[in-house]
Amino acid sequence: MKPVFSFILPVFNEEETLGETYRRLAAIMDSLKAEVEIILVDDGSSDRSLEMMRDLRQRDPRVRYISLARNFGHQIAVTAGLRFAQGDAVVVLDADLQDPPELIPAMIDKWRAGYQVIYAQRTARQREGPAKKLFAYLFYRVLRLLTNVDMPADTGDFCLMDRKIVDVLNALPERARYLRGLRAWIGFRQTAVPFEREPRFAGDVKYTFRKSFSLAVTGIVSFSRVPLRIATYLGLLVAGFALVMVVVVIYWRLFHPAAPLIGYTIITAAIFFLSAVQLLCLGILGEYLGRVYEEVKGRPIFTLKEVAGITVPPGLSINQPRWSDLAE
Ligand code: UDP
Ligand code: MG
Repeated sequence: MKPVFSFILPVFNEEETLGETYRRLAAIMDSLKAEVEIILVDDGSSDRSLEMMRDLRQRDPRVRYISLARNFGHQIAVTAGLRFAQGDAVVVLDADLQDPPELIPAMIDKWRAGYQVIYAQRTARQREGPAKKLFAYLFYRVLRLLTNVDMPADTGDFCLMDRKIVDVLNALPERARYLRGLRAWIGFRQTAVPFEREPRFAGDVKYTFRKSFSLAVTGIVSFSRVPLRIATYLGLLVAGFALVMVVVVIYWRLFHPAAPLIGYTIITAAIFFLSAVQLLCLGILGEYLGRVYEEVKGRPIFTLKEVAGITVPPGLSINQPRWSDLAE
């Protein structure tokens, strides 16, 4: 039977949390009185996560899983899950219980009331470091300033999406997937459900600073061209400055011909400053160019090594899922 609800959980070395996550999610599923499926996406875990998934699948046929051939990162793991989810409504949540499954019924109520995207919005983050909080706070606000898309602040990937939204997401060909941005970009009726982000149930954070930073850059580069314009603005500014300098130098030569002009210090400082500006602008350019390169290569965005309970389109080897094939 085709499920009404799909739950997608990206899993990367979550052996300590998976059992408890399943238990809490199962309690919610039982209370829904509807056909449901859980899609666990193993993102190349090196611990017992995959074995636990096989185990859960044996015990509960509602559990389906796909295992990526290596660690592709959280966004790609969710993307893969979305591709195979069949529900009329699809919920994406973390496997570490930071996104409380108990919020799902409230999301479903809003969905039944006619919303297509119901995202969870954090009112508080418990026990996350001050650096991470500050970084997240600034990032979401800078991103809002830089883009035309109305991206609600303090929302992660925890959400419920209608089939319509999932179909559009699946059809988007881009490889750089900043899902919470794409979700906002799609439009339709969207609303928030406030919640407090709980501390991780067990285990360590799998999102290293590097991964978070790279996600932040992807978010900005995928949705804004403002950084590219920085070079133009800085160029204009420096050109204006140079013009003023020319006037000053001519004045100096005419009215104080004997006085020595300006010292080495200012020249050295100017060279360093302008080199820095140029390198920075090159870096920004490189960031965009690198992404063009990634898109043009056209590689599949993930490879699968194992699936269970999932229908893979006929004629398709699970090892070589080309994005276009998967999108049917
Ligand atoms: N995750 C993943 N691949 C990764 C990193 C994380 O699938 O490369 C999963 C992880 O198992 C968890 C979710 O993504 O279910 C969120 O990761 P985490 O809790 O470490 O980060 P947070 O968002 O809480 O900072
Ligand atoms: Mg977490």
